Amino acid sequence: MKVFKFGGAAVNNIERITNVKNILKENKDEKLLIVISAMGKSTNALEKVTEAFVNNRKEDALQLFDQLKKQHVMTSKYLLVTHYLPCETKLDEIFKNTETLLQSAPEKSFDFYYDQIVSVGDLIFTTIMSYFLNEMGIENEWVDVRKIIKTDNNFRDANINWEQTQENVTSIIKPILENKTVVTQGFIGGTIDGDTTTLGREGSDYTAAVFANMLDAESQTIWKDVENVMNADPREVRDAIAIPELNYTEVIEMAYYGAQVIHPKTIKPLQNKSIPLYVKCFLDASLPGTVIHNQSVKNLPPIIVLKKNQVMMELKSKDFSFIGEQNTGVLYGLFEQLSIRPNLTQNGAINMICVFDNREHKIKQLAAKASEIFDVQITAGLSLLTIRHYTEESIKRFTEGKNALVTQQTKQNATWLFEV
Ligand code: ASP
Ligand code: MG
Repeated sequence: MKVFKFGGAAVNNIERITNVKNILKENKDEKLLIVISAMGKSTNALEKVTEAFVNNRKEDALQLFDQLKKQHVMTSKYLLVTHYLPCETKLDEIFKNTETLLQSAPEKSFDFYYDQIVSVGDLIFTTIMSYFLNEMGIENEWVDVRKIIKTDNNFRDANINWEQTQENVTSIIKPILENKTVVTQGFIGGTIDGDTTTLGREGSDYTAAVFANMLDAESQTIWKDVENVMNADPREVRDAIAIPELNYTEVIEMAYYGAQVIHPKTIKPLQNKSIPLYVKCFLDASLPGTVIHNQSVKNLPPIIVLKKNQVMMELKSKDFSFIGEQNTGVLYGLFEQLSIRPNLTQNGAINMICVFDNREHKIKQLAAKASEIFDVQITAGLSLLTIRHYTEESIKRFTEGKNALVTQQTKQNATWLFEV
């Protein structure tokens, strides 16, 4: 069996949705589990709904949600004929639940509400897709992934309970696959208490990999709007080049430094079972794309990765004493407590620098706690540039004339923290 994943860009208009159907028709003899993400930019729109709701702007939240609702209803009207009514009933149920939540008073954490609200995009769109594919003769069953992928309650970055999830995959998913294709969501999961969780933005690559692992898939394919994985973001670097073949470890490194190719957690489940990952272009399925596998790949070009929207936290010991193991121990304890991971750290005698993704709520909490032992200074609006397999020429090209706040260099990687 194979696992396919289609991201938001693959389904952001009727033409592309039809295209997805064509790709699936061409693969109709395969046993398939298909993970489909929220349509286009609806996850971003739902993030705005969450912001409004948590900040007590209830009317805004409801209005923003209404736009999304209308857009999905319109899409389903375009796509469906015989299956329109049952689809509408199902969508209505999800819409009503969300609206009830949006009308309540926010009492729990931001991250909790984020997951309850943002997950709706993936739920409603896969519902429409499942009906559409059935209407087009691609017989499939829609599965609520929250009943399969079980997680802890670390909202927005939930950790999968492998044992429970494997049990569900074996007892629920495997029997369906005997007769039908499975259409399900990525990115979301559920706790034993029935709350919805998310696995981090773009997490549906990861979900697909978890399924591939647990179903011993022959391969996983991520269908994207690019022809290959490239050595840089072609929107930033005009002469970016294609990389036809990569090794798992290389991709883990790339993703860690912020390459937007694949969700960072995706590789491990595949690597553990040596399942190859194909990145292919949904606009032209005949192109070879990139294959990611176990074999080592030599002579890679410099790989340029830019991580934007970074925050630097500078921590100084209050009494000019050295930063010792006790202080750093407390600090790392806080990282663990708040589930926050620095993208870069650098130590000096009396100061320490940590760079994070700008997750405002968490950064504020961390700063408040850390300031009990340190003087804390925060600088936002930064970006981290990493060059893997750097050459003198590539360093010159991407850093010359720029003033770095922090620089770090190892044998394989060089990283700079820049103001943008
Ligand atoms: N819809 C979610 C997001 O945009 C999950 C995904 O696309 O992987 O982050
Ligand atoms: Mg998406």
